[in-house]
Amino acid sequence: MLRINASGLRLISKSLNVQSVKAVKNIAIDDKDRLSKPRSQIKGVELLRNPSLYKGMAFTVEERQLLGIHGLLPPAVLSQQVQCHRIMENFRREKDDLSRYIALTNLQYRNEKLFYKVLIDNLELLMPIVYTPTVGLACQKYGIAFRRSKGLYITIHDKGHIYDVLCNWPESVVKAIVVTDGERILGLGDLGCYGMGIPIGKLSLYTALAGIYPTHCLPIMLDVGTNNQQLLDDPLYIGLRQKRVTGKVYEEFMDEFMDAVVARFGYNCLIQFEDFASHNAYKFLQKYQEKYCMFNDDIQGTAAVALAGLMTSLRVTGTPLEENKILFVGAGQAACGIADLVALAISRKANITFEQACSRIYMFDVDGLLVEDRPEGQLDGPKNKYTKQSLRPTKNLSDAVEQIKPTALIGATGVGGIFTESVIRKMGQLNERPVIFALSNPTHKAECTAQQAYEFTDGRCLFSSGSPFKPVELNGKTYVPGQGNNSYIFPGVALATTVFQSKHIDEEVFLIAARTLSEQVSESDLVAGQLYPPMKQIQNVSVKIAVEISKYYYETELASLYPAPYDLESYIRDQLYDTTYQSYVPNTWTWPEEHTKPKDFN
Ligand code: NAD
Repeated sequence: MLRINASGLRLISKSLNVQSVKAVKNIAIDDKDRLSKPRSQIKGVELLRNPSLYKGMAFTVEERQLLGIHGLLPPAVLSQQVQCHRIMENFRREKDDLSRYIALTNLQYRNEKLFYKVLIDNLELLMPIVYTPTVGLACQKYGIAFRRSKGLYITIHDKGHIYDVLCNWPESVVKAIVVTDGERILGLGDLGCYGMGIPIGKLSLYTALAGIYPTHCLPIMLDVGTNNQQLLDDPLYIGLRQKRVTGKVYEEFMDEFMDAVVARFGYNCLIQFEDFASHNAYKFLQKYQEKYCMFNDDIQGTAAVALAGLMTSLRVTGTPLEENKILFVGAGQAACGIADLVALAISRKANITFEQACSRIYMFDVDGLLVEDRPEGQLDGPKNKYTKQSLRPTKNLSDAVEQIKPTALIGATGVGGIFTESVIRKMGQLNERPVIFALSNPTHKAECTAQQAYEFTDGRCLFSSGSPFKPVELNGKTYVPGQGNNSYIFPGVALATTVFQSKHIDEEVFLIAARTLSEQVSESDLVAGQLYPPMKQIQNVSVKIAVEISKYYYETELASLYPAPYDLESYIRDQLYDTTYQSYVPNTWTWPEEHTKPKDFN
């Protein structure tokens, strides 16, 4: 129950006793807080329906009178602090994570500043709700979770008119787009139009973790159909009821989309590709990387976060990167993306060719170890360069571990439990401090749990997972598993790219991001087994990453913002979204400290 203490009550009565409101000709609102319409025009009930402007009961009496909303809200005036308290009280009452997700998205649609304030203040608690693992569940149940439309839906039937659809978006300044076609949502497969939860969730993190303005962000679903029969039969399905369009028509559609974005929002508009099927993800990355300002988070973001975890692990094992033997289980876009970046890092560090660096990396997929004469399974595409000649083919992971004797085992298969007890124990026998990453999402698809990894290696392993695991108690010691969460990387990359208007985003950017992230892990984090900085530091991490990337953008003339700011970090910090409510009247009365921090609320 919401409890107001005595000083709170006094304060509310005081605010209600305001006798006269001074005539104010111009409504003063911070310029940074962009509006879709000139501010003076937004008044009355329209103001209450605009999530960027809405303050709920935090509108002061003066504002209510000046803006024509007096009487449309209950009489009490509440501070943002009290509102946050109410949201969290209600959040705790929700019965399950899907309901919590729905409650938070409802808040986002109603009151954007309050949503981000609540999210930022409770990051560790709320990240697993707005992002993995709950966002995966929400996508699967999107027909039920859907409340109102957010973002843009462009279907294959819009081919030839994509620019016109983009013009329907009310904001003319869009700096970042997250786009999916829903074919491979997390490890959950083809979720078609239900995949829209991912671009929306990712862009919420652009704002919460990197301070990018919500109005500058646009989530896009490219609906080309779905091959998921369950969805096609689902009466609540929100997308096109047809099989996926593929081949030439699909590719022309994608090309038109990229050109239309540039025509509508300019060359500097960042386009983050998310959850495309493996073959398309790689193809589009190669095709568009040097032509547009784009990156693929599943390949490059994952790669950077995993490389950062590996770099941090090596601070404990003491083995230089180039002396490690790394076995990837899974040879899809996540595994190949990580392997490629690790190979690049090794080649830089050891001053060897990329091909030589690839020889330290091994892969095992659904058809077994990648060796030249294996009886079944393809060896084409990006995984091909990791095929070995001198090893025996095997479909048994334990056997592969025995043959290779890896120092690090990295899982990105989407197959839960594939790191069996015998595989983990073998890693423990081979290494004093084995590195074990179980990156598959959501939680039930992780290759092993944190408990299993620590238990079967007597607490010696350096563990990281894609989805969050709770700390593990073992023999009187607490181990805090690291979460190799892409959200350590993509917000910082996006921040540097949008602020300094980079022309392209190349591989070097992800090397820089990985190195910077790893450097943010303190010695005390390491002692607890954490391979990443605590979540609560993530905004600061994003800024640090953005600073390092921006130096690179200027060195390589990728930045379009001219002249380069003298102090990059303070320039970035000046651009960040502020969750504090704006005052709509000049010299408005503000809450005294004693009320903004009510004693009863602890
Ligand atoms: P993908 O479909 O491109 O690749 C899956 C790979 O796993 C394929 O190479 C396949 O052959 C292999 N595989 C399947 N079954 C196997 C088995 N039984 N034994 C060995 N290999 C098997 O998928 P992806 O995009 O690479 O994603 C894989 C997983 O990684 C997903 O669960 C995804 O959620 C996760 N992921 C995690 C992060 C992160 O933690 N930061 C980021 C991206 C992806």
